[in-house]
Amino acid sequence: MYFKDIPGHTDLKAYVSKIVGENRVPHAILLVGGEGYGKLALALALAAYLQCTDRKDGDACGTCSNCKKTQQLIHPDIHFSFPVVTKGKLKRADTTSQHFLPEWRSFVLSKPYGDLNEWLQHIGATDKRANINVAECNQILKNLSLVTYEGGYKIQIVWYADLLGKEGNRILKLVEEPSDDTIIILISHNRNAILNTLRSRCQIISVPPVDDTALLEHINVQFDLSPEDKQELAFLSAGNIRKAYLLGHNTEMNYSEDLFEWLRTAYKGDPELIVTQVDAYAGQGRQELINFLEYGLHFLREYLLLLNSGDQNILKLTETEKEVALKMGKILDVNKTEGLKNLFETAIGYVHRNLSLKSLIMHITLEINAILRSEVDNLVT
Ligand SMILES: [Zn+2]
Repeated sequence: MYFKDIPGHTDLKAYVSKIVGENRVPHAILLVGGEGYGKLALALALAAYLQCTDRKDGDACGTCSNCKKTQQLIHPDIHFSFPVVTKGKLKRADTTSQHFLPEWRSFVLSKPYGDLNEWLQHIGATDKRANINVAECNQILKNLSLVTYEGGYKIQIVWYADLLGKEGNRILKLVEEPSDDTIIILISHNRNAILNTLRSRCQIISVPPVDDTALLEHINVQFDLSPEDKQELAFLSAGNIRKAYLLGHNTEMNYSEDLFEWLRTAYKGDPELIVTQVDAYAGQGRQELINFLEYGLHFLREYLLLLNSGDQNILKLTETEKEVALKMGKILDVNKTEGLKNLFETAIGYVHRNLSLKSLIMHITLEINAILRSEVDNLVT
C-alpha cells in the first residue's frame, strides 16, 4: 500500500510525508477516524514510506528491496498486532497475532479497508470475541526490543488498539521512552476507548471521511458501473471506502429490512416472537450486533433528516432503504427516533462489556418497545 493507492486524504498524506522528510515523526501515533476511512491503509503507506530507501515525490518508490517486502507484509521490521481468538489447541492466553500472520496477510492484501467483522469472518470466528491480550503486549515489547534487521525503523502497527483494554498499560513505558528508531502506530475508530495514559502520550492524527470527488475518482477506476451508478455509489458511501466496496459489489447485508423487522417485533411485544428474534440476533455474534446498531444509527440519522426536510433526494440511503424509511413513518416520529438513537448509542457501549448477548438484546428490544409505545410527548403537548 502506497499513499498514491489511497483515495483522498491529500493534506494528511502531504503532512505525514513532510514530517518523515524532516525527521520529525512522533514515536507514538494514534490514527483515529471512522470505519472505512482508510486508517490501516494510511498506516501501511506510512510504514512503507518510512522503510523505503529511495523515496520519491512524497511516496515510497515501490521497487527497492524494502518496498518489495512491505508490499507483501513480510518486512521483518514492520510488526502487526490485531485482535485474535483461540486457534487450534492453543490456549487463548497463549494465542497472539503471530499465530494468525498468514491469514492476516491474505486479509489485508485483499481487503485493506476491511473492518473487525470482516476479519473475524476471514478467520471463521464471527461467534467469538476477539481482543488483544497480555501475551500480545509482551510480544510487542519483544518486537521492539530487537535490533532492526534492515537498519531502518522498527515499526509496530496495532489495529483496533481500543481492544487493548487495560493491558495497554504494559506498553506504556515503550511509548514513554521509545528508542530513536522505534515507531508505534495505534489505530482506532474511537479515541475515547483508548486508555487515557496511552492516548495522552500519542500524537493523535484524525482521519476524516474521504472527500466525495476523490472517492468518485477511486470508484471510476475500481468499478465497472454506469456513470450515474458511480455518482450514486460515491454519494451513498459518504466518504467510507469500505462501504463503497460493499455497495459496489452489492454485498451490503439487508440491514434496513432487518431493522424494520426488529422495531415491528418490539412494538408488537409478542413474547414468543421476541425470544425467537433475540436468539437469531445473538447467534450472529457480538461484532455483527455492533455493525447492526451502527447501521441503525446511520439509518435513524437519515430518517430524521427525512422527517425534518421531507426531501428524499438528500438522503444517503439506497432505494430499498428509502422504501423502508417511508414505511417507518407510521410508527416513528421525531421524539421516538431521537429516543432510539440514544438507546443504540448506549447499547453499542454495552456490547463490549462482558454481558450475555441474549440478555443485552432482550433489554434493547424491551427498551425499543417502551420508546415506541410511549405517548408521554403527545400528552405533554
Ligand atoms: Zn522503496
